[in-house]
Amino acid sequence: MKLGLVPATCLLAPATLLSSDQILNPGRAARVSAALQQAQLDPEACFRVRDLSFERGGVRFYLTDGFLIFARPVEGNRIAAVYSAVDPGDDAELILRPPARSERAALAQATGTPILNAHFGLAAMLFTDGTAVELMRQIEGGIVKHAPEQGLLISSQSSETVRNLLTSFITRITGDVLAAQPESGMFFATVSSRENGNFDILFDPASSEPVSAGTVSSTGTGLEFRIWTNFAPRNFTQPAARARLDDYRIDAALSPDLNLDVVTRATVTVGRAGALRGAMTFELAPDMLVTAASIDGRPAEVFRRESLRANLIGRRHNEPFLLVLPQPLEAGSRHEIEIRHSGKVIREAGNDVFFVAARTNWYPVHDPQFTKFDITFKAPRNWQVVATGEQVQERVEGDMRITRHVTQAPVRLAGFNVGEFTSVRVARGGYKVEVCANRALEPGLASRAATYVIVPPAWPSRLGMRQTAQLVAVPAVSPPDPRTRLSALAQSIATDFEWMAQQWGPPPLSTLTASPIPGFFGQGFPGLLYLSTVVYLDEADRPAAMRTPAQSVFYGEILSTHEIAHQWWGNLVTTASYRDDWLMEALANYTAWLVLEKKKGTRALEEMLQQAVAHLRTERDGEPVESAGPLTWGTRLQSAVAPDPWRSIIYEKGAWVIHMLRRRMGDDAFMKMLAALASRYSFRPVTTENFRELAAEFSPRGLPDPRLENFFDHWVHGTGIPHLNLATSVRGKAPAVDLKLTLTQSGVTEEFAVDVPVEIRFGGRSKPIVKWVRTGPDPVVLSMRLRSAPSRVELAPGGAVLAVRR
Ligand SMILES: [Zn+2]
Repeated sequence: MKLGLVPATCLLAPATLLSSDQILNPGRAARVSAALQQAQLDPEACFRVRDLSFERGGVRFYLTDGFLIFARPVEGNRIAAVYSAVDPGDDAELILRPPARSERAALAQATGTPILNAHFGLAAMLFTDGTAVELMRQIEGGIVKHAPEQGLLISSQSSETVRNLLTSFITRITGDVLAAQPESGMFFATVSSRENGNFDILFDPASSEPVSAGTVSSTGTGLEFRIWTNFAPRNFTQPAARARLDDYRIDAALSPDLNLDVVTRATVTVGRAGALRGAMTFELAPDMLVTAASIDGRPAEVFRRESLRANLIGRRHNEPFLLVLPQPLEAGSRHEIEIRHSGKVIREAGNDVFFVAARTNWYPVHDPQFTKFDITFKAPRNWQVVATGEQVQERVEGDMRITRHVTQAPVRLAGFNVGEFTSVRVARGGYKVEVCANRALEPGLASRAATYVIVPPAWPSRLGMRQTAQLVAVPAVSPPDPRTRLSALAQSIATDFEWMAQQWGPPPLSTLTASPIPGFFGQGFPGLLYLSTVVYLDEADRPAAMRTPAQSVFYGEILSTHEIAHQWWGNLVTTASYRDDWLMEALANYTAWLVLEKKKGTRALEEMLQQAVAHLRTERDGEPVESAGPLTWGTRLQSAVAPDPWRSIIYEKGAWVIHMLRRRMGDDAFMKMLAALASRYSFRPVTTENFRELAAEFSPRGLPDPRLENFFDHWVHGTGIPHLNLATSVRGKAPAVDLKLTLTQSGVTEEFAVDVPVEIRFGGRSKPIVKWVRTGPDPVVLSMRLRSAPSRVELAPGGAVLAVRR
């Protein structure tokens, strides 16, 4: 599932060319953004400074000696400044020390040092948090010299840099200037340091972990922002969100040329903490243009920056816009907003197969909450639209088919799909499952599905000549029919859905619709699944590359169960921080492994576990993929440079962690724990800490590390796959047998120490003895006297530890 609409950290785009910002009902936002984009450093506000210091989010800045120049005010606010060292003795420095050990380790991994102490000669700063006022106060109270001449020089050198940076943050800063609430404003600095090159510091109190440091780096395919560290300073409390958006009513009209015209209505409730001022920010697919907006029936200004260049740079799947409030909305008040938007977010893949490109942001999203959706679609009558929620209406009016879906329980996101579908419906245990298939295969897949046949020789073999055969690729004359597996697929999805509901209780919605998407992935929305069109084909009809054993399991078994499992893990239970997102993917993936084990046996599960170890040990820059970072780094592990560590770590190591917990607690307690997770955290976010406590509660008594703190420290918050070797020696005869076990660990740091079970079996019916041993840098020796000789001594049987056995 690709949730995560709200980027955890900034993605700093370099100099973005601005051609045509989208502005409706131009007003204050248009004026502010235009002024920001023409910002100039102000020579009249240039000072020779000495011993100026300030702190943002625990990052301390010292402008020891040098020049500081502010930008000309915009709407009365100075929102940018440049520090420049000019004379040989001029210097400035900053000190950044993440409070948590894990983040100091992250910083050390990126920069070679756990505490950043960087001297710099140049820094450009943007701020909407009152920094200018604070600096001016220090300047006015200190020994400073006005330096307009130096100001002219710095202004000519650096004004353009400041404008480029402002452009990168234009939506955010425009919104902040309109809101005029410094307590929720941001601070950004980009510095050129001697020790660490160019890097950025961001402090954004709207984020639960407001401080980020990192650098923009080139990946070959584009630029990406590499995060060195991200944390919350000590004693930081995130200000409460000022408003929530509820009760979505969406009216969408799809034309034959695939343009989607949408009217989205929703209710804004302002919290009790204070009035809502300035603007509300919405995420929306870049291909969707806002055509009108109103609040309580009054037209409202919309500001959105032109996004073409930003999208070319990549990774920008959202382009936020501001809905400017004509006047502040009072605390506790409720308002109706209406946003009209239009665009091509559905692509034609050929043969009337459609690709919904904007799946999470086809309607304006503001801080997703569990809420109700009422969605009406008007589409050409030969197309069928499926969407999140119960279908409460379907009728044909002239050339158009009108379909209405309403959610019976709160959900955070709504999806839709469209096509010339053939569908099969299955009712099971109170749940309705509908599986839709395209009537034809998209050309991309049809040609790839070329079958390979063995062509016998054209003439009878002559005596003494071995019969030879050729392997020839034959383009599929009649491409495979994506409907052939439809009934079997519907039965299998219904069976899996029902089984999960039996284990963990009701899913958020009692209807589940599965629908095809041309591509090689799946996605699980509340009540709606997108399944790769490959899933619809019989194994023999899939493209050759998708018939390897691993790919066969992926498309045949894993993909659909993973997405079904997201009904519970991701849609019913959710997460609030990128740090906890691993849990949803790990649980969805492990559920798919469980179902595979149920259908194909333990061997199939073991193969998934082993395949995961192989992926995690694949080398990347000479280091195993797994060492890129811990599970709790979430999307910070993503990289455009293959192999992407995020994929293996979050999905495969994550599933391994769940598997180790299962082996530790036993199958019964494990399934009960998952049911408790679903019931206790229904429609609520769960954190990694919550999950640790829950797993500890369901762990058997008497095991080491009963609170699972050590387990989570190493497996979830840390990295490392140990190499383990168990040597045994048996001496003596019954009834006095001496067993000596020596457990040796290598391939991990000195600090790596985890508990692993050793199972000692005896012939006949006697119960095995299980000894838990904590690994460490030195060999661990365990001696015991037994009444009879063991028949077998095994380290961590059944994949009870993620390790390489030697
Ligand atoms: Zn997923």
